[in-house]
Amino acid sequence: MAQYIVMLGPPGVGKGTQAKILAEKTGLVHVSSGDLFRENIKNQTELGLLAQSYMNKGELVPDDVTIGMVRERVSRADCKVGAILDGFPRTPVQADALKTMLAEFGADVDVVPFVTATEQVLVDRLSGRWTCRAEGHAYHEKHNPPKQPGVCDIDGSELYQRDDDKAETVKRRIQVYFEQTSPLIEYYKNAGKLIEIDGSQQIDQVSEALLAAVQK
Ligand code: AMP
Repeated sequence: MAQYIVMLGPPGVGKGTQAKILAEKTGLVHVSSGDLFRENIKNQTELGLLAQSYMNKGELVPDDVTIGMVRERVSRADCKVGAILDGFPRTPVQADALKTMLAEFGADVDVVPFVTATEQVLVDRLSGRWTCRAEGHAYHEKHNPPKQPGVCDIDGSELYQRDDDKAETVKRRIQVYFEQTSPLIEYYKNAGKLIEIDGSQQIDQVSEALLAAVQK
């Protein structure tokens, strides 16, 4: 049976880091909508230019554009056995679209780990975050520093601070999460798929809890 996992939680809680670790442990593909947008921005596609104007302000990219992009990715052969969706869905409209697209493959969302942390922890994590240019591996200057400053441990590429990790944009992203994405907590709770995970623990403790949740 294909296993589709939706990682839910506020920006900065460590969803991306955890999704990458989980992908390694389970062999499932990690599909990050934010990474797909950043890839488009890097390649200066039309989609990238459109997305950038929303991302820089900390706003969500419109649903139709986002759904189209994720649909294309999830339809590829490597997602037939399942995927770990990170950053998608972010609105109830996207959640309905995901249900419809998975139903086309005779599948459904299997489990929704909801990773939580206080707002103070989120702001601290986002403002100290450094991201690798090649693959989006994430570091934190205090809690998860690279061995060599400014260089990714995994692929040696340069680390940079995302434009939308600046203080003002961080605040707006967290606000947008509470306004537009948090209704999904109820949505997946009602569907009996939500499993809450304390994201304020150490990285490996969160990974263990996450693996246990998806293997249930
Ligand atoms: P992330 O890397 O998940 O923090 O996403 C970075 C930014 O990309 C967000 O602040 C949004 O502007 C945009 N984005 C990513 N995923 C979505 C989504 N599912 N819906 C709308 N916008 C998104």
